[in-house]
Amino acid sequence: MTIPLKLPPAKGVFINNTWQPAQAGKTVAMLAPATGQVFTSIAAGDAADIDRAVKAARHALEEGAWGRLTATERGRLLTKLSRLIEDHADELTLLEATDTGKPMKQARADAVALARYFEFYGGAADKVHGDTIPFLDGYLVSTLYEPLGVVGIIIPWNYPGQIFGRTAAAALAMGNACVIKPAEEACLVVLRVAELAAEAGFPEGALNIVPGLGEEAGAALSAHPGLDFLTFTGSPEVGVLVQTAAARNHIGCTLELGGKSPQIVFADADLDAAVTTVAAAIIQNAGQTCSAGSRVLIERPIWDRFLADLKLRFEKLTAGTPEMDLDLGPVISAGQKARIEKMLARAEAAGASIFARGKVAKDAPSEGFYVAPALYTQVDPKSELAQDEVFGPVLAAMPFDDEADAIRLANSTQFGLVAGVWSKDGSRALRVARKVRVGQMFVNGYGAGGGIELPFGGMKKSGHGREKGFEALYEFAAMKTLVVKHG
Ligand code: NAD
Repeated sequence: MTIPLKLPPAKGVFINNTWQPAQAGKTVAMLAPATGQVFTSIAAGDAADIDRAVKAARHALEEGAWGRLTATERGRLLTKLSRLIEDHADELTLLEATDTGKPMKQARADAVALARYFEFYGGAADKVHGDTIPFLDGYLVSTLYEPLGVVGIIIPWNYPGQIFGRTAAAALAMGNACVIKPAEEACLVVLRVAELAAEAGFPEGALNIVPGLGEEAGAALSAHPGLDFLTFTGSPEVGVLVQTAAARNHIGCTLELGGKSPQIVFADADLDAAVTTVAAAIIQNAGQTCSAGSRVLIERPIWDRFLADLKLRFEKLTAGTPEMDLDLGPVISAGQKARIEKMLARAEAAGASIFARGKVAKDAPSEGFYVAPALYTQVDPKSELAQDEVFGPVLAAMPFDDEADAIRLANSTQFGLVAGVWSKDGSRALRVARKVRVGQMFVNGYGAGGGIELPFGGMKKSGHGREKGFEALYEFAAMKTLVVKHG
């Protein structure tokens, strides 16, 4: 398979199942991270396009066919879309690999996960039941789960397909109509799946996509008074803007933000298994994963041995193009690469030292945005490298003395997304798991983000609300209490 380095311009904004030019006629050039070259362009939608999309979604719910479908019918549509995504997995893999630069195997895994989101929520759509509640004599009380209405969804560039799947599939399964603002750096898979949704038979206006710049299309979507709910995945800084906009319109909002996720390795752990997983958890998607395992906390007696093993792994890690299909690809942009390099220079000035470094493949294009993986020691737990998200293939190693020290260090950042603990002492592993303040905790394993079935989300600066699993359906539902006095 050859990565298409040139594609025709994307077709515009997707509203009411048709491509329409963005009203202002503006576009955004798309760079392939692997080569640094422009390979296509997308429409730059703005406030006028967002307004049309929100109105189309409202119409679909209140007057169109979408609002009249039963939960079972919605589920069938989602399942059909899942099959179409599977049928187009090769094409979607190529698009995602070109757009984000990730290795083909990762892009394929993302296409498979995207199909699985629609399969999972297709099956779940008609299985969301309310309760009956004992109340006063002569009353029947029940709870109903209804759609929230028009949902605005803002997604980032790191996993365009997967994050589209986990948000849109759950929102649609619950009967909401969606307006999606994908990221300007990478979103071609999202645009293609919109066409597949129309092919699957989704009625007009159920799923609308307005690509464009964050400060234009994203800000316009967040502030639109026609929304009933917002969900945002991205940086903590923009998360504050989105939540503020949601508050002004008195609507709810889910925030899926960053992380500084720790893996805690006790001396009695299966060290071979731990070392493999610790390296994989920071390398996946070149470290550009909100749930990347970016800190490793190592019990002092095994500090030298574990680091020596990690060093061997790191020195073999190689970044290359999607087609080379190596351990990692480039990062998303020149700006992101420069940001990582500046952060590492500051870390070194603050006393951190590189303990091991991977490499960039010799024949990777020099204009691509490659960063060699790096393992740091001598990291002050209060320093920027220990506290802040690098969003690159950079692992910070720190020692700890005992269980209490490990828990204190794990909880010492502003984030709380995912963590892992490695120990053969089951009681200790569970004690630690209960005390680390995160939304998802792994024992003797780590699955950056986990599976489709597993509720996922943050605490503290990592955000709030839950996506994935059955739990996401409740986030996208309004509960109504129905009280009937029958005497
Ligand atoms: P970002 O916040 O810059 O962009 C995310 C999205 O928000 C994009 O679609 C962008 O166009 C839009 N946006 C930008 N400015 C906006 C504004 N003023 N108003 C409304 N929308 C705006 O984030 P990024 O750099 O693209 O993504 C990286 C961040 O996302 C990291 O911090 C990462 O941890 C986080 N992330 C979190 C999760 C999670 O599930 N917790 C998943 C993936 C990424």
